Amino acid sequence: MNATGLKIRIYGDPVLRKKAKELKRITPEHQDILSSMSRIMYEQSGIGLAAPQVGINEAMIVVDVGSGLYKLVNPKIIKREGTQVLEEGCLSVPGVCIKVRRANKVVVVAQDEIGKIVNIPAEGLFACCLQHEIDHLRGKLIVDYASFVDKLKINKKLSRLEKRSKDEELSQSETKSCKLQL
Ligand code: ZN
Repeated sequence: MNATGLKIRIYGDPVLRKKAKELKRITPEHQDILSSMSRIMYEQSGIGLAAPQVGINEAMIVVDVGSGLYKLVNPKIIKREGTQVLEEGCLSVPGVCIKVRRANKVVVVAQDEIGKIVNIPAEGLFACCLQHEIDHLRGKLIVDYASFVDKLKINKKLSRLEKRSKDEELSQSETKSCKLQL
C-alpha cells in the first residue's frame, strides 16, 4: 500500500470485485491515500472515487458533487428512502453508461480522515454518488445493474476492456461518454 503511483483500475482487474476491508485504525498512510484519491478524482473530472478503483482493498471513499470534498472511512448506509434513477458512468468502466435505480435519500455513517464518526444525510445526486462508491467497497459495479438490453449494448465493450493490456491507454472517446463519472 503506497499513495504514490496510484492509478485507476479498469474493469477486468480483480481488485474491483473484492470486498474492501474495514480499517481498524487510520494511519498517516491512509490519509495520504485519501489525498491521492481526491487528486485523481478531480483530475479525471469524477465526482466520487472508491479505494478499490485505485487498487486498494480498504474501505475508503472520496466524494465531491460540488458541495465540498468528503473523505470517508468505513462508510455504511443506515437509512434509505424513496427512489431515483440516474444515468451513471464509472471511471473504472470507461465508455459505459447505465441507468441505475437507487434510493433518493440515504443516511451514511462513516469516519472522517481523523477517525471522528460522521453522520451524513444525503439526497439526489449526492445520495446516488455515496451509494455508487459504497457499492465499490462490496465489489459491485454499475454493470451489475444493466438490463437485458443494456447488456446487449455493452457486452462487446466490456470484453474489450477486459482484454486490453494493462498499460494500453484508453482513447479519449472511450473515457468520457457519460456525464456522471463516479
Ligand atoms: Zn465507479
